[in-house]
Amino acid sequence: MAEKKDRNRYRRSGDAVSYKKSFLIDMDGVINRGRALIPGADAFLEKLKKGRFPYLFLTNNSYYTPAQLRERMARIGIEVTEDHFYTSAMATANFLDYQKPGCSAYVIGGKGLIAELVKSGVVLTDTSPDYVIIGETEEYDYKKIVEATYLIEEGARFIATNPDITGPTKRGVVPACGALVAPIEKVTGVSPYFLGKPNPAMMYWARKKLNVHSANCFMIGDRMDTDILGGLEAGMTCCLVLSGVTNLKMLQRFPYRPDYVFDSIADIDPRTILSRRERVDR
Ligand SMILES: [Mg+2]
Repeated sequence: MAEKKDRNRYRRSGDAVSYKKSFLIDMDGVINRGRALIPGADAFLEKLKKGRFPYLFLTNNSYYTPAQLRERMARIGIEVTEDHFYTSAMATANFLDYQKPGCSAYVIGGKGLIAELVKSGVVLTDTSPDYVIIGETEEYDYKKIVEATYLIEEGARFIATNPDITGPTKRGVVPACGALVAPIEKVTGVSPYFLGKPNPAMMYWARKKLNVHSANCFMIGDRMDTDILGGLEAGMTCCLVLSGVTNLKMLQRFPYRPDYVFDSIADIDPRTILSRRERVDR
């Protein structure tokens, strides 16, 4: 009954969102560990497909295009289509499209970021751009840092795709977007606005892509300070999995808690797990 009433309320506001259970899933530490599939992650995804639950893989890395991400997943035996990925590059593009359609930007970033910005109509320029945007890139040099610094000093707003300081590689950690912004931030005294997790804006745009309501949307991740915090602030049901960077002892140190803690995504049954909304209604 309550469900029906709420649906009507949304219909009235012209926002026909679905109340079907849906899942936003972090990748590293949840689906895979480096190039290895986490046991049972494939079976969980099969359950999602079988139950026709809407889902997206969420990644803060803005470097890869959906085609590259699809290929990386296929390598560990997960077959999904490109439209099942949502990156911080997409969140940045969605944000700009909402805030300032047709804006211009000076960008230091990878193919994944450039493609999303161009697709959403952002004009790439180094002449009085509205924004300076930084993301993960292999083309990061002194000249570009200097140019970004000048442009911000001249009035461009400063945006970065994600706050992650490091990214994992086979040999060890490498600087990610949060580290790449550091010299520019230090010199200009201007801090960037980060779009990736834990910014609930990323969760918001991701669930908009699925056209689902946050009350029945689950966020599954292995990091408290990004996945769980972002999901919590976006009003989602948060599942922490202990297959990645967080252990039970670390979990106790945070002032916020997930709704559920699982050893692995393999222990989650999408058909029976109760969302925050369903738990409250009981
Ligand atoms: Mg992770």
